[in-house]
Amino acid sequence: MSSSILLIEDNEENRYLVTYLLRARGYEVVHAESGPRGIELASKLRPDLILLDIQLPGMDGHEVARRLKSDPELKAIPIVAVTSYAMVGDRERVFAAGAEGYIEKPINPETFVTEVERYFPPFDRETHPCSER
Ligand code: MN
Repeated sequence: MSSSILLIEDNEENRYLVTYLLRARGYEVVHAESGPRGIELASKLRPDLILLDIQLPGMDGHEVARRLKSDPELKAIPIVAVTSYAMVGDRERVFAAGAEGYIEKPINPETFVTEVERYFPPFDRETHPCSER
């Protein structure tokens, strides 16, 4: 069975690109256009990994990550934030909210899937360079 990835992203172009890239490498991709819908689908489908946009209407990605990580049933699912915020402190905020990884937009089609794959379990939080807190 192929690994499943839940993509929480409100931007249609980004959804299209990410879905295309991941499906081309054999992943199952399900998407949600809002934070609450993303949490609902995470609960229902238990994906192997979650890709999370930070700039979302209503509930931002930090809040979505906090809620997912506070749920004992869902907290083991790795979360990779995909965000165009390029301000100092953003990585720290994303990790503080509970995400294991961080990929910057614009998405680079050449490297995106490889970057995502670094975060699939088994994921060693202790030794991963991006999870220093
Ligand atoms: Mn967005």
